[in-house]
Amino acid sequence: MMVFRKNRMWGKHPLRDAYDVVIVGAGVHGLSTAYYLGQMGISNVAVLDKGYLGGGASARSTAIIRSNYLTAEAIPFFRESHKLYQGLASELSFNLLFDEMGRLDIGHSESSVYWLRLRAEFNQLLGVDSRIIGPAEIKKLAPQIDLREGKTLPIMAALYHPPAGVVRHDAVVWGLARGADRAGVEIHPFTEVTGITRRNGRVTGVETPAGRVSAGMVVSATAGWTSTVTAMAGLDVPIVTFPLQACVTEPVKPFVHITISSADLHVYVYQTDRGELVIGGPVDPYSTYSQRSTLDMLQELAASTLELLPALRDIKIMRQWAGLCDMTPDYAPIMGQVDGLDGFILNCGWGTWGFKAAPASGRTTAELIATGRTPDLIRPFALSRFDDNALVNERAAAIAAAIH
Ligand SMILES: Cc1cc2nc3c(=O)[nH]c(=O)nc-3n(C[C@H](O)[C@H](O)[C@H](O)COP(=O)(O)OP(=O)(O)OC[C@H]3O[C@@H](n4cnc5c(N)ncnc54)[C@H](O)[C@@H]3O)c2cc1C
Repeated sequence: MMVFRKNRMWGKHPLRDAYDVVIVGAGVHGLSTAYYLGQMGISNVAVLDKGYLGGGASARSTAIIRSNYLTAEAIPFFRESHKLYQGLASELSFNLLFDEMGRLDIGHSESSVYWLRLRAEFNQLLGVDSRIIGPAEIKKLAPQIDLREGKTLPIMAALYHPPAGVVRHDAVVWGLARGADRAGVEIHPFTEVTGITRRNGRVTGVETPAGRVSAGMVVSATAGWTSTVTAMAGLDVPIVTFPLQACVTEPVKPFVHITISSADLHVYVYQTDRGELVIGGPVDPYSTYSQRSTLDMLQELAASTLELLPALRDIKIMRQWAGLCDMTPDYAPIMGQVDGLDGFILNCGWGTWGFKAAPASGRTTAELIATGRTPDLIRPFALSRFDDNALVNERAAAIAAAIH
């Protein structure tokens, strides 16, 4: 029997000329901010996107969720986001297919095991379930991994993070959009922001091809396009945009039951419920806004995957894609009110790892708008840290985790 949805997932509205809050970018961060604003009773809000909902990095994400970061600033933030994800499906009444399958970060050398050990210790101190395991336990969790001795990159140990998981990226975007819509927020796809209006050091609204829209507060949640949007407000941000590629194989019988990542090999792999192997790696080595995938990266990903899982040697790659990532110098996000530019809030710098951060970033950004106070959880991630010489240095964790 065919079942037809009675109501649209979110409504269609004419664009009005004024809102309390305008959010630029309907990716997972913009929509999460909109959703939590709605929950806090602030619903005179418009989310504007130049394309379709979640069509930026959010649509291209491999959507791994984890909280085993390195620094005292990032671990509590990602731990909170992970916790919010655990309750999000029931809160939104929408199946997000969140599968906490666990994760192994493989160490192939003394130096990578050193960094993994350091992360395990910081994680444990800050209440995150992650620990170092040796080859025997790795074999139990992932018997398909090639543990033979004498390889150029032998498998010495792994950081095991049992609650890590994978979520269905489209479902998260749609569920948040539906939740925001139900609270009264308007979502406007295919509405590009072409300018940011300012008066006396304050942002007063945005310009679109459909006209000028004034706003009490403007939030930029535009990830890979952040520097193009901040330039409209006369603001220079330390963000460089790089593409990140991933690919997916034909479906096979489930045989990998955990996410496997190797920073030394620059690769990560997991198997979806449909049986496809999802494979990702590092950003491309050059900055561009192009979202084309490349044969070079496909070869690199395939070769690295086979080092870990030689059983995949005859499997076919079905699709490959790229998305844009907004990288900061310290591999940590930028969140909060911009000093000297009242009415303008940044939610960006999510690089290759931001999908997992959306519930916490959305909730704290909404709290900042609702109360005018910066929540402690995001205080270390202010843009001003680059002037104050207070970088977060999450770089080691990002690199030591094949940066996703
Ligand atoms: C291949 C790949 C794999 C990844 N894997 C993971 C992972 O496993 N785990 C993880 O946590 N993260 C991962 N990430 C990173 C994560 O997907 C991103 O950090 C996250 O989706 C960013 O969300 P966002 O809402 O900030 O940005 P986006 O989803 O990019 O949304 C920004 C939106 O802004 C809109 N926009 C831009 N300019 C304008 C304008 N002028 N006017 C109006 N709208 C505008 C764009 O159209 C876009 O829809 C991955 C990314 C990629 C590309």
